[in-house]
Amino acid sequence: MGGMTQRKIIQITSGIPASDGAGVKLTRIIATADIDHIDPLLLLDRFESDNPDDYIAGFPPHPHRGFETVTYMLAGRMRHKDSVGNEGVIGPGGVQWMRAAKGIIHSEMPEQQDGLLRGFQLWINLPASHKMSSPSYQEFSREQIPLEVTESGGEVRVITGTTDRGTVGPVINSLTEPLYLDVSLTAGEVFSQTLPKSHNAVIYMIDGEVGIDGTDLCKDQLGIFGDGARVSLSAASDGARFLLIAGKRLEEPVARGGPFVMNTKAEILEAFRDMRAGRLAEGGLI
Ligand code: FE
Repeated sequence: MGGMTQRKIIQITSGIPASDGAGVKLTRIIATADIDHIDPLLLLDRFESDNPDDYIAGFPPHPHRGFETVTYMLAGRMRHKDSVGNEGVIGPGGVQWMRAAKGIIHSEMPEQQDGLLRGFQLWINLPASHKMSSPSYQEFSREQIPLEVTESGGEVRVITGTTDRGTVGPVINSLTEPLYLDVSLTAGEVFSQTLPKSHNAVIYMIDGEVGIDGTDLCKDQLGIFGDGARVSLSAASDGARFLLIAGKRLEEPVARGGPFVMNTKAEILEAFRDMRAGRLAEGGLI
């Protein structure tokens, strides 16, 4: 493909077992000692359990400032409620995309007593210029997310961004111009997607195996792509399902403090002061 440099996998991780919220067991994939962040992706968690003890306590009301949270469900249902007045339940294939910006308090609670709960939470950074802007919320069900079917019978669910074939996802974000695809490939199927040079990209394997320019990735592995013009890969003989996530690098300092991600330590301390003084979220308690 003349001049189209292919992105290679430069790092692989399986994440580490972690616990968050009121004791929800999860796997932390980004925001670990190995991989602090992949600008602008600040955190990636996978939750997956059919044991209610692992998830039933959920994520009771807690604050955020400085970034966006993206919840994508594969199985089970989750209820979101926040201090700005948004409330909704998403089921399998649904997405909640919340811009915390200057401050929000939200809860994320499983809407089930038993059965499998499986999904992902991603944190995407906001540029310094928008960290103190107003919060907002976008929610889409599986039926509202465009599905692209390939000639070989593969399926591409487009949550945000534009595919090479022109399918556009419903989530709007002009700040980091993210791409978030849920891709299912048939046996041996080849997939490729052009990405701007400005973007970092990762692939997370939900099922099956893929080969990427000599590197094999299997279920539950995250591969980080290096630079290049496009991502190209092929599914192994059992097919594959993966998330392809990319976003525009912000190239700004990252300061973390619990549920806050700002540019400086002073801004983190300010966020904690604002939280204690009840100034963080305009709507107050939920
Ligand atoms: Fe949260």
